[in-house]
Amino acid sequence: MTTPMPPGAPRQHPPQTHNPNLQQKSDSLPDNFQNLNLNMTSPSLTSHIRSPPTTSTSVPSQPISRPGAPPPEIVPGHNVPPNMGSVRPFRPPGGQPLPFGTRPPPGSLPSSMGGGPIITPGGSSASGLGGRPSAFGGSIRNSPPAGVPPPMMVAGRPPGQASGMVPFVGSLQLSRRPGPPMQSALPFSAPLSAPFGTLTWAPSQVAPATAAPDSVQPHRMFGMPPPQPNQVLPSIDQTGSSLEDAWKINSNQVPRPTPSSSVIQYDTHQGNQANTPPPATSDYIVKDTGSCSPRYMRCTIHQIPCTADLLTNCGMEFALMVQPLALPHPHEEPIPVVDFGEHGPIRCSRCKGYINPFMKFTDHDRQFICNFCGFIGSTPHEYQCNLGPDGRRRDAHERPELCRGTVEFVATKEYMMRDPMPAVYFFLIDVSRNAVQTGATAAACAAISQVIADLPEGPRTKLGIATFDSTVHFYNLKRVLQQPLMLIVPDVHNVYIPLETDVVVQLSECRQHIEQLLESIPTMFQDNRTAESAFVAAIKAAFLAIKSSGGKLLVFQSVLPSVGMVALSARDAEGRGNISAGDKEPHKLLQPADIALKTLAIEFAECQVCVDVFITTQAYVDIASIYVIPGTTGGQVYYYYPFSSISDPVKLYNDLRWNITRPQGFEAVMRVRCSQGIDVKEYHGNFCKRIPTDVDLPGIDSDKTIMVTLKHDEKLQDGSECAFQCALLYTTVYGQRRIRISTLSLPCTRNLTNLFRSIDLETQFVCSLKQVANEIPYTPLLQMREQVTHICINKLFAYRKFCTTATKSGQLILPEALKLLPLYTLGLTKSTGLKTDGRIDDRSFWINYVSHISIPLAVCLVLPRMIAVHNLDLHKPEGTESVIPQMLPLSSEYVSEEGIYLLENGVDGLIYIGSLVDSNILRQLFGFSSVEETPNQFVLQQYDNPLSKNLNHVVNDIRRQRCSYLRWTLCRKEDASGALFISYLVEDANQKGGPSYSEFLVHLHRSIQAKIC
Ligand SMILES: [Zn+2]
Repeated sequence: MTTPMPPGAPRQHPPQTHNPNLQQKSDSLPDNFQNLNLNMTSPSLTSHIRSPPTTSTSVPSQPISRPGAPPPEIVPGHNVPPNMGSVRPFRPPGGQPLPFGTRPPPGSLPSSMGGGPIITPGGSSASGLGGRPSAFGGSIRNSPPAGVPPPMMVAGRPPGQASGMVPFVGSLQLSRRPGPPMQSALPFSAPLSAPFGTLTWAPSQVAPATAAPDSVQPHRMFGMPPPQPNQVLPSIDQTGSSLEDAWKINSNQVPRPTPSSSVIQYDTHQGNQANTPPPATSDYIVKDTGSCSPRYMRCTIHQIPCTADLLTNCGMEFALMVQPLALPHPHEEPIPVVDFGEHGPIRCSRCKGYINPFMKFTDHDRQFICNFCGFIGSTPHEYQCNLGPDGRRRDAHERPELCRGTVEFVATKEYMMRDPMPAVYFFLIDVSRNAVQTGATAAACAAISQVIADLPEGPRTKLGIATFDSTVHFYNLKRVLQQPLMLIVPDVHNVYIPLETDVVVQLSECRQHIEQLLESIPTMFQDNRTAESAFVAAIKAAFLAIKSSGGKLLVFQSVLPSVGMVALSARDAEGRGNISAGDKEPHKLLQPADIALKTLAIEFAECQVCVDVFITTQAYVDIASIYVIPGTTGGQVYYYYPFSSISDPVKLYNDLRWNITRPQGFEAVMRVRCSQGIDVKEYHGNFCKRIPTDVDLPGIDSDKTIMVTLKHDEKLQDGSECAFQCALLYTTVYGQRRIRISTLSLPCTRNLTNLFRSIDLETQFVCSLKQVANEIPYTPLLQMREQVTHICINKLFAYRKFCTTATKSGQLILPEALKLLPLYTLGLTKSTGLKTDGRIDDRSFWINYVSHISIPLAVCLVLPRMIAVHNLDLHKPEGTESVIPQMLPLSSEYVSEEGIYLLENGVDGLIYIGSLVDSNILRQLFGFSSVEETPNQFVLQQYDNPLSKNLNHVVNDIRRQRCSYLRWTLCRKEDASGALFISYLVEDANQKGGPSYSEFLVHLHRSIQAKIC
C-alpha cells in the first residue's frame, strides 16, 4: 500500500518479476507462420528419417505461406485490441494443413493470462507477498512470484461457435416462420388433427439437395434474427408451439437449429439483473458489465428455483458449466488483473468468498455483506470509500473487482506452498516395432521437434525426452556427445530414473541436442523388433523424472500396454463375441481394467504432473483403462485410429501445437461457491478430487470444461438473488500465481412458467449428455438409450403438466425453449456412445471426450454440422464473419448424388462425394476427376481455382471455431466410408432400428400422452 495509484490504472512498468520472455517475440507470430512448413512432414516409412519440414511434394501450386489455422480467430490485420491480438492462428493458406495456435507474444495476451492491465486497488503497486490469510479453502499449494503481469495467451474466438446453431432461445418469431403448421406459439393452440401412426411424411416436397448452386440452401425455418447487440432477449410470451401432425408435415417444418451469420453483442448485466445470455453455440461478443461472461460460467437455468420441489417438478438439470480459462472473442476486453499487494484480495472471513460486484457495503462502507453466506465483515481501512446516494461505493466503477464479473487477482504468498512451478515438458515416445513401422514414431518426433519453438521461452522452461518399447530409454541431454547417450531402464516392474540430472534440462541450453536426438530416434529404432510396450512403466519413469517440479507429460503411444507394471490384455477380443450381451448388461470393457492406474494417476496429480496421451494406433489399446491417467491429471486423450502416415502427421502436429500453445495453467485448484441455500453436489471433468470442496488440476487449459451439479440445501426467497463464484488458483506458463474469479448472480423464482422460459437448452442438454456418458460404462446400453429418451419426455411432460392450461390431448407441445430437445436427444441415441455397433475403443474415447468438452463442442458432437461444398460461393469479405455456409438438415433428403457435402462434429470431418458429381468440380476440389479415384487417405490441398480456395477457407474457419484440426476423410457411396457418412444423418431412420426424426417426435408424443392419461 505504498504508491497511491488510481485504482484501475494500469501499471506503467512491469514489475520486477517481469519475465524476459515476454519481450522477445513481438514478431514471432508472423514469423512462426512463415517458417512452419512442417505440416506436411509425414516421414516416409521407409527411411525412418524425419523429413525436413518442408512441404511435401504433393503440395499444390499455392505454396504454404502461413500456417495457421484452427483455433480461434484472430485474423491478422483486423482490428484487434492490442491485448489480444496476435495470438490467433491464422487462416491457413490454402489447403495446406496448417498448424495453428501459437503462443502469443508476450504482452499480447488478454488479461489474465498476462497481458491485461494490472490494477492495484488501494493504490498499492507493491507486489509483495505476505500477509493476509487467505486460503483458498485449505488446499492451496504453491506460490507465485510476486505479481507481475506475465505474458501469455491467446485471445480468440471461443471454440465452438457453431455458426449453425444459433438463437433459438427467445425467438419470438418462431411463430411467424413461413409455412403453416407451427403457427402458434400458444400452447395447445394447434390441435392435432391427425392420428398418429400414419407416417406419411413427404420428404420429396422439401427442398431437396441438388447440385445446382443455391438450391441447396436449407430453408431458414425458424429463422429469426439473432438477438441484437445489447438487446435483452425477448421474453417468450407464447410459451410453445404445437407441432401438427408431425408425420405429415414435410421435413421443412420440424424444429432445427437456425444458423445466423451475425454476431451477437451481449452485456452480461443491466440495471439490477443479469441478462439472459445468447445460446452457447452462437457467435457472440461479451461485455462484462457485472456478471461473468457465459463463456466462463453458465447455468442450466437463468432463474433459480426457490425450492428443490420446484426443480423436481420442472424436470430440469441444475448445474453450472465452468470453463475458467475459455478463449475470449478477439473483440472482447481483456480480463483485468488486480493486485491487492501484500494483503491479497478481500474475502469474506466466514465463507472465504471473494469480493465481487454483488457484495453490499453498509455502515458508511465500514462493513460489507457477503452475498454467499450473509456474513457482515469489516472493510479493511485502506479499502474504504464513501457510498453514493444509491448505496453503491463511489469508486465501484473504477474498481474491476466491484464492477466486473471476472477478474484475476495476483496471488500472495498465502496462496503458495512453494515457488510457482516452472514450465516443464516431458515427451515420451513409443518406439516399439509397430510404432516405428507405421510411421507413428517419426510423426511424433517431427511434431515435437517443430513445436519446441512454441514452448514458453525463458530460463525456467525445461524439457526431457524418453522412448519406450518393452523397456524405457532415457537420454542424457546435456553432455556434448556425437550421439545422444541412451540410458536404458530394463526393470519395467519397478522403474527408476537412471540419472538424477541431465534427463530433464533447461530448454534454452540444450536445444540443439534435443533437436538432434529427435532427428535420430526414428533411425535408431528403425530395425526395432520389440513389439511389446511397457507404457505404464514408461509413464511412471517419466513421472519420476519431473516429480520434483511437476509439469506436462506428453505421451505418444501406438500399441496396447502389454508388459511391465499394469500390463493390459487385449480384452476386446472377448468383448467382440459379446456384443449382444452388451445390450443387457453393462459393458465391462468400458471400465478401467486395473484400479492400480487410478492410484498411479492420483500420485501424479499430487505432484502436479498433467498427462496427455496421443494414441496413434492400428488396433485396440484399451482407452478405457489408459484414460484414467489423463482424466485424473487434467489432461486428455488424442486418438488417431487407424493411424495413417499420410494424413495423420499433420493433425498430430497441429494437435500437439495447440496443446502447448493454448491458454493454460499449471498446479491449479478450483472451487465453486454458491449463495446460502444452494450447494455443490458434484464436480465432473478431468481433475483429481481429494477433498470434497475443491478439485485439483495439475493442468487446466482453455478447452477444458468442468460441470458442477447443484442442489438445494434450503428454500430461497422469491425475488432474491443467488450467486455463484468460481475461483481458480493457478500458475501461468510464465510462473505467475493468479486467482481467476468469475461471479454470476441470478434471480430466484417460484414460478414454473418463468423457469421454463429461463431454460438454457444447450446447457441443459450437455449436462444430461455428460451425466449419461459417465453412466455408460456401468449401465446396459439399451437401458441407457431408454433413459436418454425419458429425460426428454420428462421435461416435455413437465411443461405440459404444469405450464399449459386446457388442452386437447392430441397435440405435441414443444415449448419454445425446448424446441430442439427432441432433435438433440435423437442425435444422442444415435451417437458413438450409445449406438450398439462400433468399436469399444471408439466408444471409450467418446465417453472420455465428452467428459471435458465445452458446450458448443458437445452439441456438435451429437448434432454435426453438414454443409454443401460443391457450390461454395463466399461473398463475405474475408475476415469479417464466418465464411461457413448455412448448415443443412441432417437428412438424406438434403444430400444429392450430384453434390459434395462436408460434415463435421468437432473431431472428425467427412466429405461425401456423390456418385454423380461433375468431374470438373471434382478436379477443382481434389485433383482427381472420377469418384472411383477417391483416395482412402486424404490430405486437403488447395488448388489454384476459386472453388478450392473457398473450400479451404471454410475448412480453416471450422478448425478455428472448433480449436481442432479435425481428421478428414473422403467418403463415397460405394464403400464403408459412405456408410459412415450416412450414419451421421441423424434425422433419417437407420437400419439398426433408430427412428427418423418425425417417428421420434411421434414416439415422444405418445409417451407424453400415456403419462397424462
Ligand atoms: Zn461469506
